[in-house]
Amino acid sequence: MSLDETLLQRLAERRQKNLYRELKTLDRAPGPRAQLDGRQLLVFSSNDYLGLASRAEVIAAQQAGAKLGAGATASHLVNGHLDIHRRLQGRIADATGREAALVFSSGYLANIGTICAVLGRPDNIVSDKLNHASLIDGARLSGANSLRFAHSDLDSLQRQLQSAVARGGKILVAVDGVYSMDGDRAPLVEIAALCREFNAWLMVDEAHGFGVMGSESQPFAGSCAQAGLTQDEAPIVMGTLGKAAGNAGAFVAGSRALIDYLVQFARPYIYTTGMPPAVAAGALAAIELMRDEPQLQWRLQKNITYFRQGATALGLPLEDTTSPIQPVLLGCERTVMAVADKLQACGVLVGAIRPPTVPVGTARLRITLSAAHQRADLDELLTALHQILPAAEVLGR
Ligand code: PMP
Repeated sequence: MSLDETLLQRLAERRQKNLYRELKTLDRAPGPRAQLDGRQLLVFSSNDYLGLASRAEVIAAQQAGAKLGAGATASHLVNGHLDIHRRLQGRIADATGREAALVFSSGYLANIGTICAVLGRPDNIVSDKLNHASLIDGARLSGANSLRFAHSDLDSLQRQLQSAVARGGKILVAVDGVYSMDGDRAPLVEIAALCREFNAWLMVDEAHGFGVMGSESQPFAGSCAQAGLTQDEAPIVMGTLGKAAGNAGAFVAGSRALIDYLVQFARPYIYTTGMPPAVAAGALAAIELMRDEPQLQWRLQKNITYFRQGATALGLPLEDTTSPIQPVLLGCERTVMAVADKLQACGVLVGAIRPPTVPVGTARLRITLSAAHQRADLDELLTALHQILPAAEVLGR
């Protein structure tokens, strides 16, 4: 069979299982409205939790940043590291309460690069079963002994830590602070306590926490700050700049030693072109807005509460989470696709998430909320869900 014949056969199998993913082409990044196939849609699938991707200040900062060069022209260690990157890293370190930070071109690369730099074959990585794909791939690529614990299950984590200790080598525990497809938070205080007990290092992926939650002194640093974890307790924090910060790229924050080490050993940092200056400038402006406009977070929280109250009144099967990620588990892939298509026909775009992104039998709508949504937008979403979901026979489960 030729390459194409082989690939087409595999694609046909994926279609047959209702797992084929369609690329949607929107006219613009939603803020939160966008057009798809000439139709105006209200978007509840983006990770732009604070609405910063369409803020004039952020776009103006990007335009000013582009004057420094359309691209960084080389990797950071060659000549692609600019003052705008240095300033962004300083601001991130301040925001997260860490000694230093390093920007990466994406969160995917930051996770892979960090895990592979810190761990090798003699070591162990202990991961939550629902960790993001980039943490899973980092674990695989590192060659370390990979152990997985049941989702947020502390007994299961403890058992895996015991087996890692018995094997010998360093131990890294890697978790999402907020799980991307479930919206729930990791029990970070308890996880950090187990890490202390077993002499393991903790790495937290703040992709969905950064900008959205924090503590009094670090109000948008993410779930580690919210849980009160210090740099010693959570020595590796990864955050993305393409979600609440509305731009692209990512960072790792931690001790000066960690950052100096990653510059030397994280291959996806070393061997890739530096972040474009426009993106760094846009991300810096976005972080300044997070700091200067705490009302963005309050508005987001209000929207989450309003949606949850409305959805609960409709009897929708919501998960127990107050994060901007509000999944509605429907189970069957076919149902999820049918419901998402009908919602789209009503002018509402939500994520339709199927395996292998989530475990088999847990296909879901992934509804995400933003500070940029208005009350009327949420009412429109709730009305559409009310019209469509009962027909899908998911209510009263
Ligand atoms: N970690 C988590 C939990 C994520 O949800 C994502 C993005 N989907 C990433 C890492 C990767 O980030 P990026 O999009 O910047 O590559």
